[in-house]
Amino acid sequence: MSEMTKTLCPYCGVGCGLEVSPPGIPGKATNRDSSGAPVWRVRGDRDHPSSKGQVCVKGATIAEALDKNRLKYPMMRDSLDESFRRVSWDEAYDRIVREIRSTLARLGPTGICMYGSGQFQTEDYYTAQKLLKGCLGTNNFDANSRLCMSSAVAGYIQSFGSDGPPTCYDDLDKTDCAFLIGTNTAECHPIVFNRLRKHHKRNRKVKLIVVDPRRTPTAAVADLHLAIRPGTDMHLLNGMAHLLMRWGYLDTVLIDECTAGFGQFAEIIRHYPPELVSRQCGIRLDELEKAARWWGDSDRVLSLWSMGVNQSVEGTATCRTIINLHLMTGNIGKPGAGPFSLTGQPNAMGGREAGGLAHILPGYRTVKNPQHRAELETLWQVSAGSISPQPGLAAWDMIRGLEQGTVGVMWVAATNPAVSMPDLVRTKAALRQSPFTICQDAYYPTETALYSHLLLPAAQFGEKSGVMTNSERVVTYCPQFRDPPGEARADWEIFAEVGRRLGFEREFNFVNAAAVYAEFVSATKGRPCDMTRLSHRRLAEEGPTQWPSPGRPTDPIAKLAHPEPKRLYTDLRFNTSDGRANFAAFHAGGLAEPPNPDYPLVLTVGRLYEHWHTMSRTGHIARIAKKHPHPRAEIHPKDAAKFGIEDGQWLEVRSRRGTSRFLANVTKAIAPGTVFVPMHWGELWAKNSEANALTHPEVCPISLQPELKACAVRVMPATDAVEDEMQPQVAVPQLVSR
Ligand code: SF4
Repeated sequence: MSEMTKTLCPYCGVGCGLEVSPPGIPGKATNRDSSGAPVWRVRGDRDHPSSKGQVCVKGATIAEALDKNRLKYPMMRDSLDESFRRVSWDEAYDRIVREIRSTLARLGPTGICMYGSGQFQTEDYYTAQKLLKGCLGTNNFDANSRLCMSSAVAGYIQSFGSDGPPTCYDDLDKTDCAFLIGTNTAECHPIVFNRLRKHHKRNRKVKLIVVDPRRTPTAAVADLHLAIRPGTDMHLLNGMAHLLMRWGYLDTVLIDECTAGFGQFAEIIRHYPPELVSRQCGIRLDELEKAARWWGDSDRVLSLWSMGVNQSVEGTATCRTIINLHLMTGNIGKPGAGPFSLTGQPNAMGGREAGGLAHILPGYRTVKNPQHRAELETLWQVSAGSISPQPGLAAWDMIRGLEQGTVGVMWVAATNPAVSMPDLVRTKAALRQSPFTICQDAYYPTETALYSHLLLPAAQFGEKSGVMTNSERVVTYCPQFRDPPGEARADWEIFAEVGRRLGFEREFNFVNAAAVYAEFVSATKGRPCDMTRLSHRRLAEEGPTQWPSPGRPTDPIAKLAHPEPKRLYTDLRFNTSDGRANFAAFHAGGLAEPPNPDYPLVLTVGRLYEHWHTMSRTGHIARIAKKHPHPRAEIHPKDAAKFGIEDGQWLEVRSRRGTSRFLANVTKAIAPGTVFVPMHWGELWAKNSEANALTHPEVCPISLQPELKACAVRVMPATDAVEDEMQPQVAVPQLVSR
């Protein structure tokens, strides 16, 4: 393990290639972090097709977090007010098997839940699906991707007949007009943004439109920034469609021959005249018209979005309406054009391929489809009817299940719901009620560990071999290059061992991760995400590969006759039963919790460039932590004056559910009537600074994704808050050796 290893950044879904080398290289000084500890060297991989050597601060500093605050041994306790005591893996597995068996007897299969993560490698995801959905007979596997991009999944499936972004990063260099809505790409997907920005700067005719209530770093360089009121995305999109139709920017051939449902959509958008829409969105009429005109005049429009669109009670409707604009103007299936949802996590896409949500199965199948279930039952060699036709509990439904006593085992892996779930007061109360919670993580403490009975140490980045897929469907092999600390194990190994101890020896007789991956790719045969040509060996030899990648001739001449398309739907045949894409017809609905006189402002939450999710890695990197000693709330000067708040003062934000404190950042970068706070800080990092103590759990009725992006709040100066009081005062349970 002393050579340079090519792998993938384990943070966001951009999926940048990394080259990692050991700290001490003969002839070179030992690489050290700011505290003087030796750390692995990391730099961008110039050969990676998605990132071409680029890397942002998170990827560049990943090595500094590898050895900090690691969970090294299984730890157990009987109740939440005890310390954890070290146990052997045997004791841990025995306890899990006992709890699963007793829950099966008491509550049936639906009493068992697993809440996983886009941090999983595909092998982890796949093994968990086989265990829960194939062997235990419950579809109660959901992932934090539910909070991130399940609306995009639902949008693609309903519009195109199948999940999967149809575009690729090359489109960033080829577009005439980039339409960014609900995405602060410059901070959250920086390497994608750098590429787009380079193209934009080089080509003066290329238009960049950004839709965001905040003047983010992304919006700051746009040709047109539409600072719409939160919750008016659907008004804007239907209004733009109205103008595109009025002005005749229609691809009538594509509409007539390749789509269905345009008539109902046309009827809907009739009700969105520009004067009304500009008023509803809080933007000028000429701004709205300019956006529609630029879209209509461009041959190649690329739309990008992420959580600003997806985290909404209208998330699926909004994704589908973005797709409508592409279909009506013929911006699909060609270079530089198409709808492109950016994934938040490194392997959220792999999770979708492996069936890692409560309503889907491996190979872009759904649990409701009897043929899909039968195909998986055959592959898994489990008896017919083993897979339930009922979608399992989605993320928030698991919390409700804990409240109602219908969940007996809550298994959380590689994620931190005690920070990232909405309505944290309620979430934590539900976790406290859990009869048995397993927290499987690389780090300790995490906020979720505080609510857990059993801690399982997981191997992480570089400590196990596996595969991840990024936002543009590029699959990268990530080999192990260092030993996991203590007794930490790969997630898939833990799931497989539990499966064997439950009596499924044959089903989980995988000898290594490559064998798991081989079985997974066989599940994709003939499916839209066909990856049957891929294997660990082939990916290691040939490098990152985009899917679809079905079995093809390996002879180079023959390969030329079977080019692998970089984009989906280039033939304008979609994955629906009649091959046509579906228009959607949705009226605008607005926010689930609009402001009122008691709660007059809209809170929106988001991410900072340097930090990652709940900071279990980036919070331990000194130079990042130093940059953001406290979470700051952005508030417009008009609102600050109205509520008596001064820049740099502590302010209190209250919603119907909770109260949190932040340092005030009075800035015109945010629209009046809106407050922004970062989502990263949990109770281990600051006292009372949790964004999600404020948010509500209302979900999109189609995707079941919560509306984390908006809730009604009021603000006031926090006169009693001094800096010392902001230090966390959480009692962290001790880890006691045997
Ligand atoms: Fe990692 Fe995303 Fe930064 Fe690339 S852009 S280095 S994938 S965090």
